[in-house]
Amino acid sequence: MVARFALVALALLGWSQAYFAGRCAAAETGVPYAISGRIVTEDGARRGWVVVNRNDGSIMDICDRESEVPPSAIRIRHEGYIFPGLIDTHNHCHWNSIPMWRSGKLYENRYEWREGEEYDEEVKAARRAIIDAGLDSRSLKYGEIRALVGGTTMLQGSEVPAPYLVRNLDESPWRAYSYVEDVTQAPPYYILQARMGLQYGIINRLFLHVAEGKSTDPRTQAEFPFVEAVGLTMPGVVIIHGVALTPANFQTMAQNNMYLVWSPKTNLVLYGETADVVTALGAGVTVALGPDWTISGSDNLLEELKVAHEYSAKHLGGAITPRQLFKMATSDAAKVAGVGSMLGRIAEGYQADLFLAPRLGPDPFLSLLKTYSKDIELVLIDGKPLYGKRQLMRDLVDPAELDVITVSHKKKAIDLIEPGLGPFGLERYDELIDALEAAIEIAPLIEDEPEGHPGYPRRLP
Ligand SMILES: [Zn+2]
Repeated sequence: MVARFALVALALLGWSQAYFAGRCAAAETGVPYAISGRIVTEDGARRGWVVVNRNDGSIMDICDRESEVPPSAIRIRHEGYIFPGLIDTHNHCHWNSIPMWRSGKLYENRYEWREGEEYDEEVKAARRAIIDAGLDSRSLKYGEIRALVGGTTMLQGSEVPAPYLVRNLDESPWRAYSYVEDVTQAPPYYILQARMGLQYGIINRLFLHVAEGKSTDPRTQAEFPFVEAVGLTMPGVVIIHGVALTPANFQTMAQNNMYLVWSPKTNLVLYGETADVVTALGAGVTVALGPDWTISGSDNLLEELKVAHEYSAKHLGGAITPRQLFKMATSDAAKVAGVGSMLGRIAEGYQADLFLAPRLGPDPFLSLLKTYSKDIELVLIDGKPLYGKRQLMRDLVDPAELDVITVSHKKKAIDLIEPGLGPFGLERYDELIDALEAAIEIAPLIEDEPEGHPGYPRRLP
């Protein structure tokens, strides 16, 4: 955390870094891609062509007819839906090589399980083994693959300063900071720096873990009042979890342009309840969805959408609609992340972070909820194909760069080769797996719940 906040001071010295660093700078030059399909926006889906500028990774045009597409463009003919890449507004991706943890108990708050012996032996020991073996960056890379196969093109919460496969909101261009530990214990100078950074635009977003526990737990209840007392109820602050937040708290958040990240699966697995998202939305708070991590949350955001949908259907009378959920993972997620002017939707001038999925019905939002990672046909970040069906990837990428991976028993292709990303950018998938397996038992890309476990506890509010 010290390092994270020290960056604020560095940023104060001058912000000269190009807004698009990393993968964007590495985007290959070449003739445009023109992708046909049903283009999904908040308003629904319409047939058309997305034309991608491969020089800067942007969407240069959206055409109704093929006759409007540049003649030289490489055609990618797709009959299904074209979705904007999913934006995961909260994760701890560098942990996601470790298998899921199901203790079978419910806890009062995040501190109870984090300080417990079982968690130490079953999860933290693996984390220590990763760090001791110098595999932190590889653990992050594996976690990013787990996100990418589900159509995630940006994620938050990767504390490991490594090159990235998907867009990493924690990289410096995005000016997003996070505080993972108990916010009530944050030293006063951190809080002062954070407030000043937000006030003067040096920090764009501040992600805080607040009120993660049962809504009846006094320690969980005390966290939002602390945030208020220290003056952090201010624009750009993102509250992660917020299980114990009250209607009055959500009013305060809306009045101060604060945001909420909702993580239903991990909340239900660990505490048996989750945030009152209907009240938050009713108060005018913009809510995004984030799996938190794979250890008690979903494999990726695509899977978290299914949990949220099931929760809404079974316990909220369907109040959170498939369209609302789509927004929570795309345009509203981009707003929460502070990147809404260039990511989170398919529109001219936006970056070409997209994925192609089959059409599993006329409603694109319901179709998305029925889509699994193994079904995804292609994922592009900055207009670059990174994951998808083997033949399609072979058509678009130098086959020598492709590795075959198995996603829920289906063989897919992935391009991990990015020479600009140092030694990790040249490492093949099998080498990555061998390195991690030497230290820990690694989680599969898509992990099944243990026998007899319902996915999340049914004892719900
Ligand atoms: Zn978290």
